[in-house]
Amino acid sequence: MLKVLKFGGSSMADAVQFAKVKAIVEADPGRRVVVVSAAGKRCKDDHKITDLLYLCHAHMQYGVPCDGIFDMIQKRYLQIRDDLGLTTDLESEFAALRSKMDMGISKEELVSRGEYFSARLMADYLGFDFLDAELWLKFNLDGTVDQEATYEALRRAASGRCVVIPGFYGAMPDGTIKTFTRGGSDITGALAAAALDADIYENWTDVSGFLMADPKIVHDPQPIERITYAELRELSYIGAQVLHEGTIFPVREKNIALNIRNTNQPDHPGTMIRESFDEQEVPDNRFITGIAGRKNFSVISLTKSGMSSEVGVLRRILELLEKYNVSVEYLPSGIDCVSLVVATDKVASCIYQLMGDLQKEIKPDKLHVIDNIAIVAAVGRKMAFKPGSSGKIFARLGENGINIRMITQGPEELNVIVGVDNKDFANTIRVLYDSFVK
Ligand code: ASP
Repeated sequence: MLKVLKFGGSSMADAVQFAKVKAIVEADPGRRVVVVSAAGKRCKDDHKITDLLYLCHAHMQYGVPCDGIFDMIQKRYLQIRDDLGLTTDLESEFAALRSKMDMGISKEELVSRGEYFSARLMADYLGFDFLDAELWLKFNLDGTVDQEATYEALRRAASGRCVVIPGFYGAMPDGTIKTFTRGGSDITGALAAAALDADIYENWTDVSGFLMADPKIVHDPQPIERITYAELRELSYIGAQVLHEGTIFPVREKNIALNIRNTNQPDHPGTMIRESFDEQEVPDNRFITGIAGRKNFSVISLTKSGMSSEVGVLRRILELLEKYNVSVEYLPSGIDCVSLVVATDKVASCIYQLMGDLQKEIKPDKLHVIDNIAIVAAVGRKMAFKPGSSGKIFARLGENGINIRMITQGPEELNVIVGVDNKDFANTIRVLYDSFVK
């Protein structure tokens, strides 16, 4: 059994958090590969090390001294080391980094050092080997990951060993350091799990898994125990901010389960994400797995009699959107009408030209735009097998005075998506949650 674990910034914030990580790793002999983030915030007003490193670079760029910030970063790691009673020689590492900065270090290399120092300390603390990500995580020249070379290199370097790996960065073909976008340690963990054919990828953070709805809208929402990769994709697409978006692909491709866990509540099972579940195993009558949504969409509606039998009309409409580089989020259609749901901010600068082009090229009988639309998706893999699920959803929204402006459903019946006025957004989510989850 091999488990790859990734610990986020809050799990690396100080010596107390390091101790929790150690207890988690040592509780299971399968936990042999550990990926870590840079130290995060210890409290609300604290700073993330990665933010401080970006700040250092910004100072250097404008010729402003950054010694104070650099000192904060160094002190943070020295304190963790001393509190843990370790003897890792960080002073000379920081001195080497400082002189490299004076000589002109790249931004990506500088901001990657938070993960580097976290991993050095964690390796010493766990008694694992430190395995630098620049030795195996290889980027192509276009910035994508060279998956084959990466997997091959990690297999060679880590097989059979207990290692700690810094997240967030790897190396370009010429050896220079390249980072992912923010939050990218999630991807490092996923790549490591996929390369080593892990049985599970445990992503340890500071919440006990995904919640069924946004806690800013629903009071104390329940956590999602089990969710499929497809459902997660639906929820994150529409707005639930969960993992870095590059995380899913490597593990899903290898059919590896992903478990979101809470470092501060290690006994909580968190959220388990798999390709599919044996639904008999844990019977659950709820047909909704999660609810998410986003405000500020525009719906462009075209009506034209005979449109349904006009070959190529949809292509011509979509080509006009392509011309203005606007992506269509949803495309509900009727017999002789079609609606294009687009993000308002993406279409704002070209809406008049686009409408003019649509009028000229398609010659619709009616053409109009409605703004201030919110999209809410109720996602659930069991919906496909439960007759009447969508009927119940629409009925409850109607009973609560919510005017549904648009309805659409994905082809796999994984979700029911409704468009409502922006003002009804929060209420729609609350009604769905109270009716079908609570
Ligand atoms: N430390 C990086 C960040 O703050 C990467 C990560 O934590 O995943 O974005």
